[in-house]
Amino acid sequence: MKNFFDNTEIAFQLKSDSELERAYFLFKMIAHQPLVRIGTAVTNFAIKAHLPVDGLIRATVFDHFCGGVSELDCMKTVDALYTAGVCSVLDYSVEGKETEEQFDAVVARTLKLIDFVNEKEAIPYAVFKPTAMGRFDLYVKVGTGEKLTSEEKEEWERIVFRFDTVCKKAYELNVALLIDAEESWMQIAADDIVEEMMRKYNKEKPVVYNTLQLYRWDRLDYLKELHKRAKEEGYIIGMKFVRGAYMEKENDRAEEMGYATPICASKKETDDNFNNAVHYIMEHLDTMHLFLGTHNEDSTMLVLNIMEEKGIAKNDSRVWFGQLYGMSDHISYNLAHKAYNVAKYLPFGPVRDVMPYLIRRAEENTSVAGQTTRELSLLSAERKRRKL
Ligand SMILES: Cc1cc2nc3c(=O)[nH]c(=O)nc-3n(C[C@H](O)[C@H](O)[C@H](O)COP(=O)(O)OP(=O)(O)OC[C@H]3O[C@@H](n4cnc5c(N)ncnc54)[C@H](O)[C@@H]3O)c2cc1C
Repeated sequence: MKNFFDNTEIAFQLKSDSELERAYFLFKMIAHQPLVRIGTAVTNFAIKAHLPVDGLIRATVFDHFCGGVSELDCMKTVDALYTAGVCSVLDYSVEGKETEEQFDAVVARTLKLIDFVNEKEAIPYAVFKPTAMGRFDLYVKVGTGEKLTSEEKEEWERIVFRFDTVCKKAYELNVALLIDAEESWMQIAADDIVEEMMRKYNKEKPVVYNTLQLYRWDRLDYLKELHKRAKEEGYIIGMKFVRGAYMEKENDRAEEMGYATPICASKKETDDNFNNAVHYIMEHLDTMHLFLGTHNEDSTMLVLNIMEEKGIAKNDSRVWFGQLYGMSDHISYNLAHKAYNVAKYLPFGPVRDVMPYLIRRAEENTSVAGQTTRELSLLSAERKRRKL
């Protein structure tokens, strides 16, 4: 099965020669850790100093990893991907906003995204991040069970109301909604709200999806407990599986504060944990649906093999595969070519506001051993095939 993802003609079918060259040089640069560090520092400085760098960022990293500055701006990309059978999940990737007005603006934006999903077959899910709807520190405080002041209680009720507003609309329009997972110390409170939303809106089918970060060793037990409660209370679980994007932050905080890290002790343990969770959910697709968010070929193959063994149709709506736009096209396009359900997370937002997202992608590609090398070798193979 090794060749399953290796067809670069399919993988890069939508890339013009110049886009292919840009991707190749971009990953060549990202492969150099010092360059990424310097680039990040210079970009952060330029943005803070209000230097006119938007054009430069747009022409390089932004256009490779993002769909545009607004929903409408993304539509050209959404339509293009769909010609190859790849769907899109529009992801408003603005981070670090902390005022009530900004949280309300995200609600308005997510409601609009739900309308898009409702109208466009090429967009199967809406998505949002918990901290886009409420203050990070308040999630933390609620998670620890600390007593809230009366203002904080009201602020928390507003967060729950924001979740409910978007989940309710998703339910009414029959639109599936993914909710991202973030740092473990804010996630406790977010998980509780998402569970409440599933209880309310997932009675007939999964409208609300939470995210399980399997670099956390406690998550499979969490999933099993949640599953037990869901069966008792009669609702269906929607779950996005990822390994997790905050490993260094998690380990650093645990060390600083002197508690056991929630992260698995090694990459191998994360992979085993991921596989065990995959086996568990694939055994229970009657009561749990899966969105597999990964760039890992083995994890993807594992699900494909189980589907084949169990005679599950390739386009069964209970199993979706997802990759980030600008990464692992060989997985997305080859899956779509074979008629599996696949979607790209397509980030969008004003160039300056999506910088934290872009920096995370650059760092992830620098630090994830093998991933950049793999992108580069696939891009080289395609350049060779096209005789560039
Ligand atoms: C569609 C989609 C949605 C996503 N949504 C979220 C989200 O909601 N929340 C979130 O946090 N991330 C999210 N991510 C990001 C995701 O967590 C990273 O892309 C992912 O961790 C990269 O791993 P991989 O599965 O592609 O596989 P690989 O490249 O095989 O694994 C790399 C990952 O393994 C883990 N790892 C690496 N080294 C070690 C080690 N020494 N010990 C323990 N674990 C280790 C880390 O999680 C690392 O990122 C999403 C990704 C996709 C594609």
